[in-house]
Amino acid sequence: MRAYNFSAGPAILPEEVLKEAQAELLDYQGTGMSIMEMSHRGKEYSAIHEECIANIKELLNIPEGYSVLFMTGGASSQFSLIPMNLLGEGQTADYINSGAWAIKAIKEAQALGSVNVVADCGKDIPTRMPATEELNLTSGAAYLHVTSNETISGAQLKEFPAHETLIADMSSDILSRPLDVSKFGMIYAGAQKNLGPAGITLVIIKDELAARCPASVPTMMRYSTFIDNNSLYNTVPTFPVYMLCLVTRWLKAKGGLEGMQQLNAEKAGKLYAAIDGTDFYTGTAVEEYRSDMNITWRIANHDLEPLFIEEAGKQNLKTLKGHRSVGGIRASIYNAFPAEGIDALVSFMKEFEAKHG
Ligand SMILES: *Cc1c(COP(=O)(O)O)cnc(C)c1O
Repeated sequence: MRAYNFSAGPAILPEEVLKEAQAELLDYQGTGMSIMEMSHRGKEYSAIHEECIANIKELLNIPEGYSVLFMTGGASSQFSLIPMNLLGEGQTADYINSGAWAIKAIKEAQALGSVNVVADCGKDIPTRMPATEELNLTSGAAYLHVTSNETISGAQLKEFPAHETLIADMSSDILSRPLDVSKFGMIYAGAQKNLGPAGITLVIIKDELAARCPASVPTMMRYSTFIDNNSLYNTVPTFPVYMLCLVTRWLKAKGGLEGMQQLNAEKAGKLYAAIDGTDFYTGTAVEEYRSDMNITWRIANHDLEPLFIEEAGKQNLKTLKGHRSVGGIRASIYNAFPAEGIDALVSFMKEFEAKHG
């Protein structure tokens, strides 16, 4: 039996996608080989690679002048690559501190150059995102870095600030809602939350930005290397790209990002309604910044939380434990998380309250 898996990442994948991968695992389209046993320059893998890029461009309606890249090292490597490539000598980079992931990005940039933290609500409880009016922007900053969804705290940016060069870590909400890519200089995401298995990082970058990179940056750390070589300068992680390709097909069949946004809003709405419907549970993010991806809450009596998580697990509702840094309960309900799992969790919450409230 498949679990209702609320893991924050690596996270649940669409069951249809897993079954498809399973069906062609040993013999990809009559070749007698697995896709992961083939050359990354061969005809079969090339078709997957191109389709995956085309599907992402189509889903996000990516304009001309941007490239879709498959990199490695996770979103965490991007924290360093961004300032290495884009923060010039004598320039300042603006960062919003919205929580744990933003803080990690800021730390890496500070090691490489001058950083202005334009708003700091990283430690606010309830958790939230800063409003655009709060931002103390540097004029002429190399870029503004934001974290679109703080996976740990459950706060999500609903509107993006306007900036000449806006860079967003979208690791935990990419492809969950439509987006105007033309407003961004760069978007990046580790794949293992809302895209596919761990192993690749999706980068969408405006080509002209890559030219800023100083000559001292090593080949494999330059965006231009990936742009100029279609992410095939070295061996791309072929199997994760294949999985991502299957996920993008699945997304297209589900009505694209408009369809996803609607489903995600319905799923999150039900869960927030259950939290708000009683004093027994309390949401931990400010209402207007509540994430549709990572729903975080507490039980008024915190001592009951381990029991809640344990008993939920026995009912096939798995991995509801909040991040070790904040405690409480977290339900990560990415695109692939089925609506029936939300209903099952809501009934369990009612039962648990009836027993212990
Ligand atoms: C998980 C996560 C990261 C780190 O991703 P890795 O791929 O593990 O490096 C960075 N930012 C956000 C918002 C995340 O959720």
